[in-house]
Formats: sequence, structure tokens, C-alpha cells
Amino acid sequence: MRKEICLGGRVLVYEFTRKRVKNCNLRIRDDGSVAVSAPPRMPMEQVEGFLQQKQEFIWKAVGRMETQRAPRAAADGQEIPYLGAALRLHFEQGRRYGAQRTEGELYLTLPRADEEERRLAALERWEKEECRRVMTAALERVYPPFVSYGVPKPTLRFRSMRSRWGSCMPRKGVVTLNTQLLAHPLECGEYILIHELCHFLQADHSAKFYEWMDRFHPDWRERKQKLNRGK
Ligand SMILES: [Zn+2]
Repeated sequence: MRKEICLGGRVLVYEFTRKRVKNCNLRIRDDGSVAVSAPPRMPMEQVEGFLQQKQEFIWKAVGRMETQRAPRAAADGQEIPYLGAALRLHFEQGRRYGAQRTEGELYLTLPRADEEERRLAALERWEKEECRRVMTAALERVYPPFVSYGVPKPTLRFRSMRSRWGSCMPRKGVVTLNTQLLAHPLECGEYILIHELCHFLQADHSAKFYEWMDRFHPDWRERKQKLNRGK
């Protein structure tokens, strides 16, 4: 069963199961998702108390797992998904890092372009910068209706994450976005931004949260489907 709990101002979504075990057990999977099991009769308050106690450990472990990179290649001529379309990659030897995008093509210049690891690092640098450019512009478009509800314009941070598209820390005014959003149509990134902005008004995914989503983004369900289909 999917459950959630607010730990230190951030919502943790976890998979909960009842088992014939003695104590509450916690497992952080390789992709950063969290599984919790508890004895059949342990009250939910006790389970939640256990998670509260472990919150520092949980967020650290989740962060570590999520940033572990999945194996990837960066070869000349390879195609990468870009905002619902595709870009063909070209690597060129040069004195320092440079990037240029034309219709359907991305040219990355770097020293030692013959080394796969350097090509991958250059590609990831470009993805992060491009995601920042695209999503900062998207924030300007989706943020205005939130002003009158007292939602501060968040600082955007970018990371490659394995199990979530975005997360937020309302108290710090920070929204972290998955750089892999760059692979999907822009409207999907906008949907994630609106989702995170709604968390400034409602921390969990209760009915109240979806009321806010309906207000700010009436067609969010279609965008969510689109994003998860393209995954
Ligand atoms: Zn959420």
C-alpha cells in the first residue's frame, strides 16, 4: 500500500506492507524508493514515530541512491530525446567546453573528446544547463497565479534523479527538478512545476492538494499520463 508522511517539511512517499516481523523495517531501494514493513498489529502512529526518528538517515540515503548514475553512453552520432523530439549528438575536439544547438543537432566541444567519460560529463553539463534555461522560463509562465496565494517564487535546483520528477522544500523555498525532464515535452515539465508549487500550499497529496491542482492546472491529469507514458 502506498502511504505518505511529512518528514522535516518534505513529503516521503513509501510502500507499506504488514508482515510477520518483530519490528518495523525500513528499506531504501537502489532507485531511491522507500519500503517499510511492520508487524500486523503495530499501530500506524508507532510506524510513523519510527520514520520520524529515522528521517535524517532516510533523506540522506534517498538522496545518495537517487544521484547514482544509471550506466549511459555518449557516442558521436547518437540521438538523445529532447523536449519530446530528438537531438543528434556531435562531439568535437576543442580547447574548452562549448555547446551549440541547431535544429535537431547538438554540437559539444571539449578537450580529450576521444574519452567516453569526458563526453558523458560534457553531455550532462549541457543537460543541466539546458534544463535550467528551459525550466526557468517555464517557471515565469506558470508562477503568476500563485502570487496572490502568498507562494514565494522558488529557487530551482537541478539533479538527475531516478525515482522522482521533482521535490520541494517549502520552508527553504527550494524546488528540485529532475534534469531528465528535458527529454519530455515542455508541458510535462510545466506540470511538475505546478505540482511542486501546489506543495507550498499543501504539503501532502491529500484531497486538498488535488483541489489546488485542479484550480491551477485543470488538465494536469493528461499531462501526468503523457509524462508517465514517455518514461
Ligand atoms: Zn507531490
